[in-house]
Amino acid sequence: MSRIISKTIGDKTITILNDGGTEFGFDLFPGKEEQELKHILGDASKTGLSTRFNVCLIEIENEKILVDAGVGNAFGPVAGFLPEALEEAGITPAQIDKLVISHLHPDHICGSWDDEGKPIFNNAEVIMSNTEYNFWTNANNFISVGEPLTSWLPVAQEFLSIYSKQVNTISPKGDISSGVSFHSLPGHTPGHCGVMVDSGTQQFLFTSDLIVIEDIQLQIPRAEFAFDVDKQLASTMRVECLDMLATDQILFSGGHIHGPKICNVVATDKGYQLETE
Ligand SMILES: [Zn+2]
Repeated sequence: MSRIISKTIGDKTITILNDGGTEFGFDLFPGKEEQELKHILGDASKTGLSTRFNVCLIEIENEKILVDAGVGNAFGPVAGFLPEALEEAGITPAQIDKLVISHLHPDHICGSWDDEGKPIFNNAEVIMSNTEYNFWTNANNFISVGEPLTSWLPVAQEFLSIYSKQVNTISPKGDISSGVSFHSLPGHTPGHCGVMVDSGTQQFLFTSDLIVIEDIQLQIPRAEFAFDVDKQLASTMRVECLDMLATDQILFSGGHIHGPKICNVVATDKGYQLETE
């Protein structure tokens, strides 16, 4: 089974690397009953909400940019296959020039260090938004947040410590490389960012955690989602971004989309759906 899919737009090649997948409980949507969610899934026998973990590789003539670093050991044997996916793409971790972090949740950073706490992407400049960096490095932000953020904080701190010599923060709308830039999508975390690739004639957006449960959130994008720090803002961004992707016909993939897949977002009378060319 292949873990990768690639598409070339202009002088840039985009590859989605699948890192594995898992299943979450129905309690991820606080305002929704299990029965309603099963109805949206169209399958009453479902035992949970399935998700995937994906990483995005952007290759430009002289540069290899990795967006996020996978889950590592954080989810046990069902995930942590980024090394296999990179090998399938013919890339070694040492070849990555820029490691772009969409946000500092464990499932996007834990694949970036080895069992001895050494950075795997040892030659990469690590780029994240200054909003995200400032959120996780100010203890005052965590005084009354509760779980899961409380237990995710030490993981983010470990990452920032391991990569301290490599981290460079930029604006949530800043340029990462020529034709590659952050696309600000706050709400999931304050500094959560997607990454836009613009070839001049075609655009692609990797939205990271705008959508975590594809089977539910494409149909009811406004529903509150447990892992979003600012649930209202996150749902507003979800609707605005899906609308933009569909209207402007921007190619799409995300950190938790089933696949690996690079596709189009199409508006329907029941929300949105994904269509692969
Ligand atoms: Zn995630």
